[in-house]
Amino acid sequence: MIKTTYDAKLGEMMAGTRPQVSSEIANHYSTRMVAAFRYGSLAIAGVGLIQAVVFALMGSWLVVAMELAVFVAGLAIYVLIRRGHLAFGVLVGQAALLLIAIIMGLLLDVPTSEAPRISHLYLLVVAALGYLNYQREKSRTQLALIGLCLLSFIVLASAPITSPFIVMPDVARTIGTWANAFVATAMLAACFHAMQAELTRKDKYSRDLMAALWRGEFNLVYQPQVDGSQNTVGAEALLRWNSPQRGSVSPVEFIPQAEKLGLMVTIGGWVLERGCCTLAEWGASPHFRHLSLSINVSTSQLMHEDFESFVRDTLVKTGADPRRLILELTESVLVTDIELVIGKLNALRELGITIALDDFGTGYSSLSYLRRLPIQQIKIDRSFVQDAVNSSDSASLVKNIVLMSRDLGRTVLAEGVETMEQHNLLAQFGCIEFQGYIYGKPMALNDFEQRIEVETRGLA
Ligand code: C2E
Ligand code: CA
Ligand code: CA
Repeated sequence: MIKTTYDAKLGEMMAGTRPQVSSEIANHYSTRMVAAFRYGSLAIAGVGLIQAVVFALMGSWLVVAMELAVFVAGLAIYVLIRRGHLAFGVLVGQAALLLIAIIMGLLLDVPTSEAPRISHLYLLVVAALGYLNYQREKSRTQLALIGLCLLSFIVLASAPITSPFIVMPDVARTIGTWANAFVATAMLAACFHAMQAELTRKDKYSRDLMAALWRGEFNLVYQPQVDGSQNTVGAEALLRWNSPQRGSVSPVEFIPQAEKLGLMVTIGGWVLERGCCTLAEWGASPHFRHLSLSINVSTSQLMHEDFESFVRDTLVKTGADPRRLILELTESVLVTDIELVIGKLNALRELGITIALDDFGTGYSSLSYLRRLPIQQIKIDRSFVQDAVNSSDSASLVKNIVLMSRDLGRTVLAEGVETMEQHNLLAQFGCIEFQGYIYGKPMALNDFEQRIEVETRGLA
């Protein structure tokens, strides 16, 4: 049953059907895209400068002023992008170009018997640039600018304004019409090319991520979790992607991407299945049956309508003991429908599963939520643990988190412990479980099992 849902989804994606791409798709651009913006702004500045020189030679000084404004706008976008203010640079540049195109179109560049209006073509280029920027960072200002550009284009293309404020020499109008039509069309084509390149890049990343499951490029590593005496009581399963093209990709990089591409339900499902298989194997061995396994669950996975039944089916299929399974959620679940989350967590609790709140303190934690959510374990984030030994304020904060959690009947695990000093302080505050490089880095399953065997022999 689980397998079928899974295979159907995988099959659908591998068959080339476009995966369900979230609207908040990848928020960073390839270097190629940044370069496209940079060269685009330079091209705008170049067009402005050349035309300023041409009109200066003809003595049309008002036109020169307009063209110099175009040059300055193009240059300003270029400088802002170079300094890393891509989104701001593009917004400011668009606003300036929109204004210039409207003034040019209404006052100077009006259709005559010699030449049609041409400058409004650049409004389509500005709108296309805006669209590229909107894909990168959604904002209402950007949407408004795109709308204004398109509206101005329609007005300037249709309005019967025939008497120019300033009359330009006919020869300049005729040559300018051809030159500007050529440049604007080339820029529009470059924008479409950039959009296509960006879509292809995202599609490839998405296809590679899905194919990674089929090709077995994902694997789990296991980081020990210990008690106050540093005996291993369990492990956290952490995902790794060993891509032949990209090398070892960090989950910090590919999980947000997978999330945005709508793939995390499928990938997270694989993690759960793999983890439960390991847990079932541990359950069958006297050396390992005392161990718990923590598995990370992303918010999109939890909120999937079939999540609880998927977990139940996976437990039945693999034979894993639910009492040894811990599902880790981050505080981001708290910004979704809290009643729905509570219902889902209660259903998981009824299966015998333990729920942990990961990265505690970094997100939206509120005491009232903490009281209401059926959570048994709180994982104090690494940043608090590491600050606790350096600052008395942080230390008292951590101490209070532990006290409060214990009062609410939750156990506390300290994450990211790297020194004995941190361990001792946290133990003194009342932490009963620990995880961090000092006890062991994430390791292959075999290495983790060997460690347990050595520990068991040591205790015997
Ligand atoms: P996390 O759940 O907070 O996992 C702990 C991360 O901290 C791991 O990074 C681990 O290697 C690292 N870490 C553990 N001890 C120490 C320490 O003492 N010092 C330092 N500096 N780091 C330590 P990793 O494996 O790179 O995972 C990063 C994040 O990716 C995880 O953070 C988790 O949010 C996410 N992740 C990993 N696997 C999965 C998964 O299967 N599903 C989901 N949804 N997220 C996952
Ligand atoms: Ca975790
Ligand atoms: Ca964590």
